[in-house]
Amino acid sequence: MTKYNGSCHCGAIKFEIEAELTNFRTCNCSICKKKNAVMMSVNETDFKLLQGQEHLALYQWNLKIAKHHFCKICGIYTFHHTRSIPGVMGVNVNCLDDVDLSHIPIKYVDGASLSSKTDAD
Ligand SMILES: [Zn+2]
Repeated sequence: MTKYNGSCHCGAIKFEIEAELTNFRTCNCSICKKKNAVMMSVNETDFKLLQGQEHLALYQWNLKIAKHHFCKICGIYTFHHTRSIPGVMGVNVNCLDDVDLSHIPIKYVDGASLSSKTDAD
């Protein structure tokens, strides 16, 4: 496991994860599709918010279990707490700083049909 730093575009939100950079995914559920994000799963215990709690917006809908966070200033989706696996977070891998992600394969997840059409992740 390696430590990586992540941030939103404006830098208000900074976080750290301890993880292996693998299992990147993109998903076609209703929110992932519109975010167009590439994500990876990180255990909550391997995630640390370093700064920006006050700038973190929370978006919830439908069952209101998943917690989708984004920066109130620059609007960038940074990470979310998943609905499907408690204790596991999805992190926007493109928010990771100073790391080359170009060689890591991205898996396409059909979230739209795995779950209810409105709140797959
Ligand atoms: Zn920001």
